[in-house]
Amino acid sequence: MTWRIPLADIDVGEEEISAVTGVLKSRWLTMGAVTQEFEEAFKEYSGAKYALAVTNATTALHMACVAVGLKPGDEVILPSLTFVATANAICYTGATPIFAEISSESNLNISPKAIESKITPKTRAIMVMHYGGYACDMPEIMRIADVHGLTVIEDAAHASGSFLDSKMLGTWGRVGCYSFFSNKNMTTGEGGMAVTNDEEVFKKLSLIRSHGMTSLTWDRHRGHAWSYDVVDLGYNYRIDEMRAAVGLVQLHKLDSFNEKRRKITKRYIDLLHESCPEIIIPFEHHPGISACHLFVILLPEGCDRFDFMERMKAAGIQTSIHYPLIHRFSYYQNDPFVACQNLPFTEKIAEREVTLPLYPGLTENDVTYIVQSIAEALHH
Ligand SMILES: *Cc1c(COP(=O)(O)O)cnc(C)c1O
Repeated sequence: MTWRIPLADIDVGEEEISAVTGVLKSRWLTMGAVTQEFEEAFKEYSGAKYALAVTNATTALHMACVAVGLKPGDEVILPSLTFVATANAICYTGATPIFAEISSESNLNISPKAIESKITPKTRAIMVMHYGGYACDMPEIMRIADVHGLTVIEDAAHASGSFLDSKMLGTWGRVGCYSFFSNKNMTTGEGGMAVTNDEEVFKKLSLIRSHGMTSLTWDRHRGHAWSYDVVDLGYNYRIDEMRAAVGLVQLHKLDSFNEKRRKITKRYIDLLHESCPEIIIPFEHHPGISACHLFVILLPEGCDRFDFMERMKAAGIQTSIHYPLIHRFSYYQNDPFVACQNLPFTEKIAEREVTLPLYPGLTENDVTYIVQSIAEALHH
């Protein structure tokens, strides 16, 4: 189906094309100088001490879980209202995901109080996810983590260019993980980045990104090494030079992309207030500067979401749901540790959530048309 207005759209042009062409002509395609340049640029942008480019955010999250030492029997507290990769990364290590409630109708992020209520002697870490690029309460979550000796990992897949107290989201905890998947705020097709300020964690991440080997093909190519040892159980989570080249260009455009997303978000809010006051707009008065990755609304209680989305579809507007709750998926329900976990508040809010189109190229007229269509769908 071709949508009059799709949910998301990328913004790539001649600069990205020539960056990729340049890499192909250089004849060095695997992780090398361009990747290093991309990592340096991201490090500077984020303010983190170390940055490692990887295949995607899921692998970044997996590496983060391994690097902080998660193992079977450990418990990790996380929200259920997130993409399944947040929980999968924990499960890859054999640790147990413990789902905690979100804060409120106006804040769909994990609730610090709910985190505290889930802490047991087995708790090792907290995995937060900055929903839509809106900041979790990091000062409070870091305080809780300090008091209980827990590690904080940030799923910052939505948060490239999101800040709280002038500090980029993803740089508050021990490791932060960003996604450059096609529908994210900046893209490399598939791609991701892990950042940390902790030298030990950085060394571990570097090792396990590339088979646990002590030298890289790139080092050997440059004559820096002849052979290698394998000192850890590693993976192949390396990005390639074509993606890194696209990432460099996209990173330079990120602020202007995000500024457009913020303007569009503001227009949505103003128009919705006028025509659809019964709609709840989460994160409307949220602290920090959001990358505005998603624009989400909560339908009035009792409104039929399926019918609403069908009406939007008939108007040519693609909508989505962020997210089907992880603890309700069949795979997770099969796990007795998960099956007994209930999240009545998250479940009640999540069933009213609808995601509207948001991307830098969305025009003012598009937003007007979308809000008109929402009003018609609600008041038909
Ligand atoms: C997109 C996304 C991921 C996974 O990112 P990939 O780069 O596709 O692996 C993880 N968590 C959240 C919240 C996401 O939105």
